[in-house]
Amino acid sequence: MATNEDNLKAIISHAKEYGFVFQSSEIYDGLSAVYDYGQMGAELKKNIKDYWWSAMVQMHENIVGIDAAIFMHPTTWKASGHVDAFNDPLIDNKDSKKRYRADVLIEEHVEKIRQKIEKEVEKGTKRFGDAFDEEQFRATNPNVLRNQSKIDEINLRFKVAMDEEDLAAVKQLIEELEIACPVSGSKNWTDVKQFNLMFSTEMGSVADAASTIYLRPETAQGIFVNYLNVQKTGRMKIPFGIAQIGKAFRNEIVARQFIFRMREFEQMEMQFFVRPGEEMKWYEYWKTERVKWHRSLGIDEKYYRFHDHVKLAHYANAACDIEFDFPMGFKELEGIHSRTDFDLKQHEQYSGKKLQYFDPELNESYVPYVVETSVGLDRTFLAILSASYTEEKLDDGSERTVLSLPAFLAPVKAAVMPLTRKDGLPEKAREIMEVLKFDFNCQYDEKDSPGKRYRRQDAIGTPYCIMVDHQTLEDNTVTIRDRDTMQQERVSIDQLEGILQAKVSFRKALTA
Ligand code: ATP
Repeated sequence: MATNEDNLKAIISHAKEYGFVFQSSEIYDGLSAVYDYGQMGAELKKNIKDYWWSAMVQMHENIVGIDAAIFMHPTTWKASGHVDAFNDPLIDNKDSKKRYRADVLIEEHVEKIRQKIEKEVEKGTKRFGDAFDEEQFRATNPNVLRNQSKIDEINLRFKVAMDEEDLAAVKQLIEELEIACPVSGSKNWTDVKQFNLMFSTEMGSVADAASTIYLRPETAQGIFVNYLNVQKTGRMKIPFGIAQIGKAFRNEIVARQFIFRMREFEQMEMQFFVRPGEEMKWYEYWKTERVKWHRSLGIDEKYYRFHDHVKLAHYANAACDIEFDFPMGFKELEGIHSRTDFDLKQHEQYSGKKLQYFDPELNESYVPYVVETSVGLDRTFLAILSASYTEEKLDDGSERTVLSLPAFLAPVKAAVMPLTRKDGLPEKAREIMEVLKFDFNCQYDEKDSPGKRYRRQDAIGTPYCIMVDHQTLEDNTVTIRDRDTMQQERVSIDQLEGILQAKVSFRKALTA
């Protein structure tokens, strides 16, 4: 059976072979944790962005979108807390010289204990069959209970140490748990240090401290500083949202795992401004809406799970993650946070400008509360790619690799092919291309046998292949092959636009 690691490797190499994702500056041996999207990847990424934008902005009268600059006034990041607190605790192994996030080392240790619990539950399921009461088993089995209390104790100690900024206690925990470096196997650790994740650069020609600026580590602040501009010029009434898609930069310490954790990545964020006191209602609303959005991609439910935050960020009064079962296990895909009035209040304080809303119904002014939905574009890309990647054994014994992408996100919607390169078939196929290309991204392909061409399209997830043959010249019909069923149907050329439209428009997914 393929392991998760094999699976990730297969996806990475497929992504490269078919022009989805390349390592950045590969001819110079690449730049760590930075990636480029190739000709297919750029299309898929653009479609995901468009779909998110349609669902968030186009479908909601009270949400508008902006496109703020990556560079922002440096005080922004003082006010947001990033200069002082956007840190990860890091630790080095003295033997391998490898650097780790202390919290990740501890989390991975906890995960191993959790796996033991799951094994115990699995054994129970096998032993008791249908009579197995999982809930009761988890609540009473001594091995499960012992391991669960270990987990709780570790989590609590870690939380207290971090809350008290006691990095020596974090190191002590790592030592007591006898966590070893996965590379050297040694437990020879340095002290734990805080490391700020923001990239900085200099603006202007004089390199003094005043000109140090940051590459934004999140897109949210571009929305907060524009809150009043948008509210006033758009005559927005609370509750309303501001959405944005854009690049963010973080100098991640542990930056492996392909496009899951990158140093330059893209976020799709929406900040929803509400009346103070109503934030929990909207928090629940957006949790439901965002899960619906993910479900509308047609990926099996088993890939998703919710994770409520126990340890809340200083600005939040409720937070949860939508996690996805990536090839390396369940990890955060999207965060939904109730951020209170923290950000706007901070910007009021640091800028000296009022960022309030006059509520005509209440006849009073207040600083709105904010509910945020923040999803990684690259992580969504990886989620879709990995859930779609399938190696199939066919009835005739042959194999095919197919990307069963949601049709409305597929980079190429239809491939138009002449059966042979003579008898006027290419000309006829070109005629079809000329019509379809205005509404659909199509590929013309006449090289190699039809079987090979179909496989190529399967590998990039093209929902339909349209074949022009000799009968086409007689009765204006073509065969249209479905990627998933591999069935071919004969249809009239006039029907093609309608068939494609029904399959690939956002409408069905948006109304699902
Ligand atoms: P993590 O705990 O995985 O580092 P985070 O909690 O710091 O993520 P947020 O600050 O909530 O992430 O950012 C919102 C979203 O941005 C995340 O849910 C994720 O999809 C995406 N994201 C964050 N960091 C990265 C990264 N380094 N590479 C790719 N996507 C990222």
